[in-house]
Amino acid sequence: MITVRVPAKVNVQLGVGGLRADGFHDLANVFFAVALGDEVTAAPGQGVTLTCSGPDAALVPLDDSNLAARAARLLAAHHGIEPNVALHIAKAIPVAGGMAGGSADGAAALVACDALWDLTTPLPVLLELAAELGSDVPFALLGGVALGRGRGELLTPLPVAGTFHWVFAVADGGLSTPAVFRECDRLREAAGTGSGEAEVPTPDADPALLAALAAGDPVALAGALTNDLQAAALSLRPALADCLAAGTAAGALAALVSGSGPTCAFLAKDALGAQAVAEALAASGTCRTAHVTHGPVPGAQVIGRA
Ligand code: ATP
Repeated sequence: MITVRVPAKVNVQLGVGGLRADGFHDLANVFFAVALGDEVTAAPGQGVTLTCSGPDAALVPLDDSNLAARAARLLAAHHGIEPNVALHIAKAIPVAGGMAGGSADGAAALVACDALWDLTTPLPVLLELAAELGSDVPFALLGGVALGRGRGELLTPLPVAGTFHWVFAVADGGLSTPAVFRECDRLREAAGTGSGEAEVPTPDADPALLAALAAGDPVALAGALTNDLQAAALSLRPALADCLAAGTAAGALAALVSGSGPTCAFLAKDALGAQAVAEALAASGTCRTAHVTHGPVPGAQVIGRA
């Protein structure tokens, strides 16, 4: 049996360009891998079977639409072998929370099945298979911090110094990522700026953000965090504003919606600061739970063989 640990992500920059003819948006996406993560185990099995545990387990589809199951089948097809594996997801990443939990499980299943089936697939090939599964899957393989261009799948690793301390406030219920992108387009139309490729400037990585990461400076990073989907997530879920305000009042250096939400992310000065923000958030009644974590951490990796 193989056990793989895989991180969730927060977007420290999420720049959303205009709506393309193919229905996607060009993104300037700076992914940051945090220690809050899932564990996926792969054991010998007959066909692909899947089980899931954790507080959100009931929300995870266990059929062939699950990204972990799709990853197992894709890897087997690539090598021309039968997909025989019993997968289990120990789920800690909030489901539909804007932290790419499904993508993380897809990446973890690729790594776990690769080890179980003794395939030693080269990383560039795993990254290509990951991109077929979804835009956020390649980053979950790489981890660390990376700039994602295109739909987010064209990755450049970025230099980072030290460790940053985060708190994630998990909301009740998820938000659909496509619905949040649609709301972003709608808000742009309503504001009169337009939502197409011709009207919205192509986003680019913010040099101040890259410098803050490279310097390991949380105060500078706090000043540079941006998420172009935040207004759309707040429009669909106005109560998130109370959560963001509660974390800021408790001393967070910055608060932002994680990806498409509804999870809210808070950057703290240090580990003690993060603890204080988490306690205040838990007491505030504005979220279901608050997790203290840190990053960056590596991507999907084998942590156990039995
Ligand atoms: P992202 O940040 O990449 O937009 P998310 O974190 O908002 O994603 P996910 O937790 O990845 O959302 O789940 C989105 C949907 O994907 C779920 O509602 C579920 O139907 C489906 N899904 C497929 N595979 C998984 C998985 N392994 N874990 C959780 N959800 C999954």
